[in-house]
Amino acid sequence: MNVNEFLDDLRDRVDGELVNPVEIEEAAVFPDQFYVERRTWKRIRDVVAVVADLKGSTNFSYNRRPEATARIYEAATGNMARTIERFEPDFVDIQGDGLFGLFHGHRRYQRAMCAAITLKSFGIQALEAALDDHFGVDAPDTGIKVGMASGTIIVKNVGVRGTNEPVWAGRPVNYATKCAQAADKQELIITPQVWEHFADNHWVAYSCGCSEENTTPSELWDPITVEKLPEGAADCRRLRTGIAWCSTHGDQFCQAILDGLRLRKSVVAAAA
Ligand SMILES: [Zn+2]
Repeated sequence: MNVNEFLDDLRDRVDGELVNPVEIEEAAVFPDQFYVERRTWKRIRDVVAVVADLKGSTNFSYNRRPEATARIYEAATGNMARTIERFEPDFVDIQGDGLFGLFHGHRRYQRAMCAAITLKSFGIQALEAALDDHFGVDAPDTGIKVGMASGTIIVKNVGVRGTNEPVWAGRPVNYATKCAQAADKQELIITPQVWEHFADNHWVAYSCGCSEENTTPSELWDPITVEKLPEGAADCRRLRTGIAWCSTHGDQFCQAILDGLRLRKSVVAAAA
């Protein structure tokens, strides 16, 4: 095995790639095919990325039979994919024990936000609840962490020998991943660019106000700093632990967001 010769060859290839010009092609609609051979990347503007991760998955297999670990993954990852698919993402990829979805086209921010809140709700109401039921005191300390970001993305298929996977370069996936990493289980963290779209949306920013402790609509999102983000780190927003779609009003709120509604009479009245 001539590893040194191979490394020299790689060095030449890297030098070549760095000086060879690349072409960027503007994609007005979300592309369903990406270039492989040509040095042409497609640029898609204002893409919204949703990243969901399982908390503490590296600890699952510790002291647990492979079969039990596998069942946890079947329960978690497969259903995370099922959850995000309901909101018609333009692309979904499972990565490790989590996934990311990209949203473009009509009401991309609204579809992405509803997907993110539903992933969070799935983690709280279905996954964690079921793990506690099945494993009792041995239940793994896990749950779903969600991040969201938006911006311009460039894409091209890269790979050798049939492993052609699209590479998504740019802020949306990168920043959404950092937001998900900064979140604890049951939390959703979004960048300031995403918050801009929802700060004045009463269906997203305020609770329904039907709980006993909280009988009027109240603000749901806290300011939070995501240290690893190079810009706007201090102006992110977090939807707190425990918050999920309300069992009474969730259907109505989700539909209102998807329909592009903004104002609620009860919130307007409270502010007046
Ligand atoms: Zn409610």
